Amino acid sequence: MLIYTVRGEKGLSHILIDRKEHGYEARNIDKIELSSQSTAQIFITDARVPETNLIGEEGDGLRNTMKVFEVARAHVGTLSVEIMRASLEEAIAYAKERKQFGKVIAAHQLIAAKIANMVDAASLMCQRVFGLIDAGVRCDMQASMAKAFTTEAAVQVCRDAVQLHGGNGITKKFNVERLLREAIIIPIPDGTTEIQQLIISRALTGVAAF
Ligand SMILES: Cc1cc2nc3c(=O)[nH]c(=O)nc-3n(C[C@H](O)[C@H](O)[C@H](O)COP(=O)(O)OP(=O)(O)OC[C@H]3O[C@@H](n4cnc5c(N)ncnc54)[C@H](O)[C@@H]3O)c2cc1C
Repeated sequence: MLIYTVRGEKGLSHILIDRKEHGYEARNIDKIELSSQSTAQIFITDARVPETNLIGEEGDGLRNTMKVFEVARAHVGTLSVEIMRASLEEAIAYAKERKQFGKVIAAHQLIAAKIANMVDAASLMCQRVFGLIDAGVRCDMQASMAKAFTTEAAVQVCRDAVQLHGGNGITKKFNVERLLREAIIIPIPDGTTEIQQLIISRALTGVAAF
């Protein structure tokens, strides 16, 4: 099932295209990780759908997309939180085991600094968005803040975890390299970090810099 955006006289609208009724082709795109979620290029030829496949009202497409974005951005933020939490756990375990200069590396201050990061702050930002959505309060700015912050924090935390593992970190034997490849994807979908920054700055200044 595909949700497709069409442009008509009343603006953008969403329609459902059921693959069984109107065949379309989905060609998988190989990406560096996040294989649990397929990313595909869709090819549609001469698809006609009945009016009942319209989602909501005609012309509601943009408004509906904006509503979905609040949830989607908090969702990918939460995904980033879980990736960085997993990476941090690996880093902590390794730092308590690996010894250099006569002590475990967790006892070196520069390693301790890498471990003292902001997973909880990222998690709280996502929780704030879900709370506002549940309360029916518009929160596109907060969703953009959560998305931009958590996804970029995940990249940094995962990179630090690889660094903390030294040479082992870039081998396939240690999970941290996979987690970094997953983290690096997430600042892109549902609006890149740059686009989130533009949304936040427009909300704060009232001036669009797109
Ligand atoms: C895993 C994954 C899943 C995806 N899922 C979907 C999906 O389900 N549905 C869907 O429709 N799309 C999906 N996408 C596509 C995704 O939404 C786009 O890749 C993303 O919006 C960026 O668009 P682009 O690739 O065309 O990059 P571009 O728009 O070409 O951007 C390239 C670079 O320029 C920057 N940039 C662009 N405009 C500006 C500006 N005005 N100011 C400053 N910087 C700017 C961007 O931030 C980026 O760094 C997915 C992508 C990925 C990676």
